[in-house]
Amino acid sequence: MTLSTPLSEIPRVGSVHQKRLKKLGITTVRDLLFYFPRTYEDWTQVVPICDVREESFACVRGTVLETHHARTFKKRMSVTNALIQDGTGALRVVWFNQSWLADTLKKGEEFMFAGKVSRDKEGIHLASPSYEKVSEKPLIHTGRIVPVYQETAGISSKFLRSLIFPLLRTVSVEQDTLPEFIREEKNFPRLQEAIFSLHFPESSKHAAAAQERIAFEELFSIVLFMISERKKIAKEKSPRIPFDADLIKRFVEKLPFQLTDHQKKAAWHILKDMENPRPMNRLLQGDVGSGKTVVAAIAALSCAKAGKQAVFMAPTEILAQQHFKTISSLLSPFRLKIALLTGKTDVWTSPKLPKEPIEISRKKLLEKVREGDMQVVIGTQTLIQDKMKFANLGLIVLDEQHRFGVRQRAHLQTTGYKLQTPLVPHLLSMTATPIPRTLALTLYGDLDLTLISELPKGRKAVTTRIVPPEERKQAYEFIAKEMQKGRQVFVICPRIEVTEGKNHLEMKTVKEEYEKLSKDIFPSFRVEMLHGKMQQKEKERVMDRFKRGKIDMLVSTSVVEVGVDIPNAAVMLIEGAERFGLAQLHQFRGRVGRGEHQSYCLLFTDSGSPKTKERLAAIQETASGFTLAERDLALRGPGDLAGVKQWGFPDFAMRSLTNLKLVEQAREYANKILDEDISLTKYPSVKKKLGEMAKRLHLE
Ligand code: ADP
Ligand code: MG
Repeated sequence: MTLSTPLSEIPRVGSVHQKRLKKLGITTVRDLLFYFPRTYEDWTQVVPICDVREESFACVRGTVLETHHARTFKKRMSVTNALIQDGTGALRVVWFNQSWLADTLKKGEEFMFAGKVSRDKEGIHLASPSYEKVSEKPLIHTGRIVPVYQETAGISSKFLRSLIFPLLRTVSVEQDTLPEFIREEKNFPRLQEAIFSLHFPESSKHAAAAQERIAFEELFSIVLFMISERKKIAKEKSPRIPFDADLIKRFVEKLPFQLTDHQKKAAWHILKDMENPRPMNRLLQGDVGSGKTVVAAIAALSCAKAGKQAVFMAPTEILAQQHFKTISSLLSPFRLKIALLTGKTDVWTSPKLPKEPIEISRKKLLEKVREGDMQVVIGTQTLIQDKMKFANLGLIVLDEQHRFGVRQRAHLQTTGYKLQTPLVPHLLSMTATPIPRTLALTLYGDLDLTLISELPKGRKAVTTRIVPPEERKQAYEFIAKEMQKGRQVFVICPRIEVTEGKNHLEMKTVKEEYEKLSKDIFPSFRVEMLHGKMQQKEKERVMDRFKRGKIDMLVSTSVVEVGVDIPNAAVMLIEGAERFGLAQLHQFRGRVGRGEHQSYCLLFTDSGSPKTKERLAAIQETASGFTLAERDLALRGPGDLAGVKQWGFPDFAMRSLTNLKLVEQAREYANKILDEDISLTKYPSVKKKLGEMAKRLHLE
């Protein structure tokens, strides 16, 4: 049996089990061995029965004296009782609805039992413990540190243990994807040993060492992969976009505001990069509202004036719409052809008719793009599609880039676009979610970072308040006054209604909230709603009306989270604030405080938990997205923030991404290896793994 043996060839795994395991993503021996435990139970201490105490957890070893099986008619349950002894005393063991146990637990045989000690009217007993016969076979469910796995219907941890344990002893995991010299320097266990220790550790120390090794190995693979992809791209040629100082000057003079120093510096870096015949890979980080769009517009303008096309990609339709309007208007003096490609109707602006965009069929638009007749193309993910071909793409702008997955990002610059020239476009990514430098370098390969850390002049800090249920009424009165003054209000509701077993978490759905606010609370104001299930056209209409001040209060899901720019909005009310991460709350807050008015962010929460309070207090106290992002990283891990979930790494490996020292070390190793030998001939199994990663990346 090898790692690639399919489950069907393992004895004991029938077709029903195969189906269930598939749900967990397990189809081969390898998948099983790399299905790491979620946590462990420590049953190493075997206690004498005379020492068993109520309300504790105990592992005991005892001989079965008798078993007894009964049915309770009232509750329609069957109860199995066993009496066991170990020379220091006797103990009752009780299970419900496991009638076969009476036959399994044979009188006179010795078993291990591990579980909770409870009390009923007949005294203390072990309640539904794990049990395992004592024989020459090693113990795997009791009497040791026992793995607990993420389970699914019909696949218990017990089943997984008995499946995985024999495989660990017979299958050889010969392909080590961590170079031997690194393993030695870091004093890590060998892979075979590490995998064994992850499932059945001798001690918690062994488990930790194994986790550290696997986590480092995964980290090292990502880093190595990203760096090697980058090194390959860096060798490619890109179009030179001349730095036309005159053009930029004309653009800046026509702006309704003065660029901040940081905006100027960022633009300068980008323009310098694009002069180079090597592909730019720059990440522009700037807090919400710091004015990244205009910087990107400068880049797009230079590109278009140099006769190359620029593409501008946003994570949501609403944002793409907004960018289309903003950029069309910013660039209107320069008579460019700008297109918007969205879900339904595509439009473009003609330099001859700058007022209203013109509708155009998808087919016609793609044709124009292919012929180089469109200079700036704006849209969402739909922009990465097979039919999209550019005559001469010079620049890709990726807005809110953390919302795109690792795959989509890496795909973009290389094979994402069917180009008619061999030149690789420059890449400008933008984000308001600040990621520590080391982490950014890891996740996106080697890139250049530019920071905009100053906000445009005259911005007032947003006042943030936590609103408990008893202050709701007062808050509504305050909001009504703001609306009377002509300000606009966002109300954000958590998206879904979740039912988890008995814990029915009541969420305010947008619809309910809208009904309540429009009819009962603010009947004299213009309240409307926005959510993901609405038709695209409908969403656009609502957004447009809100932007033009025709709506006082917009009740919405988190679709407005990123990028939306409504200067007259002065109140951001968030329902169920505890449901959102800090970075996300900060993004919401960034939707207000963009104009001249004092703005407010009201965090409504019913949760009294101290943890929630602490988290929400952090956002109340901290105006800086950077500080919040760091706190969020520490609190929640990088998770979806970085879009690396796609790689399918185990959770503990994901957590290692927050360990910046480890990340830095992985980078050093990766650079060292690649500088010596970019094709990795000395490390065939590492090379193979990267090949698999690349395949996964480019398939999508
Ligand atoms: P973000 O960085 O969050 O994407 P935007 O680019 O949407 O921010 O800009 C936010 C708002 O600030 C917009 O209304 C924009 O017109 C305005 N703005 C940008 N730069 C400046 C500036 N230098 N002075 C004043 N307002 C600016
Ligand atoms: Mg933006």
